[in-house]
Amino acid sequence: MNIGVLGAGQLGRMLALAGYPLANRFTFLDTTGHPSAGIGDVMLYTDQHHLLDDFLAKVDLVTYEFEHLPVALVQAIEEQKPVYPSSEAIRVCQNRAEEKALFDRLGIPTPVYRLVEHADELEAAARELGCPVVAKSVTEGYDGKGQAVIRDPAEAGDAWRSIGHPRLIVEAFVDFVREVSIIAVRGRDGQVVFYPMAENVHVDGILRYSLAPLPDLDDTVQQTADDYIRALLDALDYVGVLTLELFQTRDGGLMANEMAPRVHNSGHWSIDGAVTSQFENHLRAIQGLPLGDTAARMPTCMVNVIGREGDSADLLAIPDAHLHRYDKGERPGRKLAHVNLLAPTHAELLEKVRTCAALLPEAPASRFSFE
Ligand code: AMP
Repeated sequence: MNIGVLGAGQLGRMLALAGYPLANRFTFLDTTGHPSAGIGDVMLYTDQHHLLDDFLAKVDLVTYEFEHLPVALVQAIEEQKPVYPSSEAIRVCQNRAEEKALFDRLGIPTPVYRLVEHADELEAAARELGCPVVAKSVTEGYDGKGQAVIRDPAEAGDAWRSIGHPRLIVEAFVDFVREVSIIAVRGRDGQVVFYPMAENVHVDGILRYSLAPLPDLDDTVQQTADDYIRALLDALDYVGVLTLELFQTRDGGLMANEMAPRVHNSGHWSIDGAVTSQFENHLRAIQGLPLGDTAARMPTCMVNVIGREGDSADLLAIPDAHLHRYDKGERPGRKLAHVNLLAPTHAELLEKVRTCAALLPEAPASRFSFE
């Protein structure tokens, strides 16, 4: 099976690494001009239609590792080859207003929000919802980009100009206990499997640490998250891995923040920490194969390596540490690698996380809610 992947970054690279044992081949179509997969057959898409034809001629089915793609392009591909997840999933997930409307329709709680199209409307929404509020561009935002926290309605004009986008979503600021995510996989036959939820530590909007399974997560909370993501998967008739990022509030409740129609950074722990990784399960799903066991082997923490790399030998000297490098050049803020750390107890795991962070020049201090 030759799998076409839209996007050619590290997520595509890790998909390919998981697919080679299944004798899959990979052809990537890069729309950014900066492919980094460094694996498989990478084609640069530059609006030349024969390139798209060449890509389609090579592949049996198409998936993606990046959702900020022109929906029309994905729809055009869908006319010729199976695309999993569908263009509808992309359309919804690349637009925060569409995403929130779907959460509302399915009864999945979210922070209270308003849509605004003018600086005055932003100021009015900040007054109505009560500061602080978070303003986010409806499209194109990721990793905290295209966002501003407004602490006083008088800051609305500056926030509007700094985001520079014609349509924003304004959300009440959630006083969360922790950020968590749930990753689930739906097969072509509708079978769904769920990974244990992860706690995610972000700094400046960028994920730095993900840890799963959680020592203090009530089964009912996992069940609630499973129900929310199952509703989304079924509503979108989804095939593949879907990620839902949530805030957990003081009363144990969950509020949806956003979703990603793809394998996700908060699921990288599963490469070494779960019986079947998110990457392998995505490939199984889109090819109509049985889904693999999502159980965790051991408490696992994923540490992102951002901006500057650490010394590989030092990192690998940590027992049960697994280094995954993306073969990219160092640049501030760039995701270069991740380290998966495994330990039989959470106490030992946290110790390893501290050792690992001390070896990474740019790693911020980790602080998990259960420490
Ligand atoms: P997002 O791009 O929507 O995932 O936002 C990036 C990060 O900003 C999140 O991971 C949170 O840390 C923070 N954030 C976003 N929305 C809110 C909110 N409504 N309340 C509190 N923090 C938020």
